[in-house]
Amino acid sequence: MIGITVLGATGSIGRSTLDVMLRHPERFRAVALTANADLDGLYEQCLTARPDYAVLVDDEAADGLKQRLQRAGLATKVLSGAQNLSYVAGLPEVDYVMAAIVGAAGLLPTLAAVSAGKRILLANKEALVMSGKIFMDAVKSHRATLLPVDSEHNAIFQCMPAHFVTMQQAGVRRLLLTASGGPFRTTPLAELHDVTPDQACAHPNWVMGRKISVDSATMMNKGLEVIEACWLFNTTPDQVQVVLHPQSIIHSMVEYLDGSVVAQMGSPDMRIPIAHALAWPERIESGAARLDLFDIARLEFEPPDLARFPCLRLAQQAMAAGGTATAILNAANEVAVSAFLTGKIRFPGIAKLIENIMENVTINPADSLDAILQADATARETAIAQVNSMGRRLAL
Ligand code: NAD
Ligand code: MG
Repeated sequence: MIGITVLGATGSIGRSTLDVMLRHPERFRAVALTANADLDGLYEQCLTARPDYAVLVDDEAADGLKQRLQRAGLATKVLSGAQNLSYVAGLPEVDYVMAAIVGAAGLLPTLAAVSAGKRILLANKEALVMSGKIFMDAVKSHRATLLPVDSEHNAIFQCMPAHFVTMQQAGVRRLLLTASGGPFRTTPLAELHDVTPDQACAHPNWVMGRKISVDSATMMNKGLEVIEACWLFNTTPDQVQVVLHPQSIIHSMVEYLDGSVVAQMGSPDMRIPIAHALAWPERIESGAARLDLFDIARLEFEPPDLARFPCLRLAQQAMAAGGTATAILNAANEVAVSAFLTGKIRFPGIAKLIENIMENVTINPADSLDAILQADATARETAIAQVNSMGRRLAL
């Protein structure tokens, strides 16, 4: 039996992970499930998955969960506080850790799983975007196994030869990272000023958490994914071509020196990459609908429009700048998305705020975890101060 900790169990990726695990009860067992404050969601999951541990960061929610689980007669141990996320990621009985917390909050628990030498199923791209080299060095030195869950990176991983080390040695010319273009791919630019959070979260092909949904609408998600791809596949942004592909059927491609282009296809259902990473190098049922090519009939491709999607350019610039620039980018984006979702800034203000923070926060070498956490904190404080002082004018 493979013991699994699911960090961010109540989220979109967390729920899909439990769905796949519960289809294979002879193979996988939940050691720990964690969430921020979603007491009801975690309670329901404890009833079905019966983990040894449940962690809620919020103390009050954890007290509530403890009482309800006791009443239900479950022996699950309930813990609270952010430090216990790292504790359950490193338990000796844990083999795999699904890293599915959203945002920078996932960094320390994911690194704890890396330090404990686990198999990490990485959905929490922000952790890798922030800490890049430190993260990859830790994977190597602790002999952890890192498998991408993000559908594009999982696709690239599937299209790469086994034992991949460098693009050159593998004969790879470039990576083709597909993107749907989100809900505003064809919206007239003048209308973006008035789009609402619900419109931004109505993704045409995927159902996801609200933060990544807004990231998809601005295409910052693709920007973060370019950075993620550079670290995972040991390459540079100029070797990662973003390809708009509105149908989201091809999840990414690898172009080889001989002219071969290898693609991975499937229904847009995150249970496919999740099942792949859970079973690798084997294959298991995921519950996803089979691909019906006759039903899809056509696949389209177009280049991304950087004027429409300035966040993509900002992410490419941050990766090229190096050091703590990507941690600053990520923090500014988290503040901007949250300000948009709570009605404090308008949609075009997201990119403006991030650009402003990128210009005003000093980039330092990313040579320690402390330097990264410091960059994150400074960028966050500066961005929050800007939101408070400028507010809705950022949309101008
Ligand atoms: P979500 O908002 O649906 O879920 C987030 C989970 O993290 C929840 O369980 C929540 O309780 C927990 N969480 C939130 N803040 C926390 C905090 N401060 N401390 C501890 N736990 C906290 O998010 P999601 O859509 O499932 O995305 C999770 C991650 O996976 C993100 O990094 C996202 O970019 C990545 N991802 C998601 C998808 C998708 O289809 N949803 C696809 C690819 C990658
Ligand atoms: Mg993705």
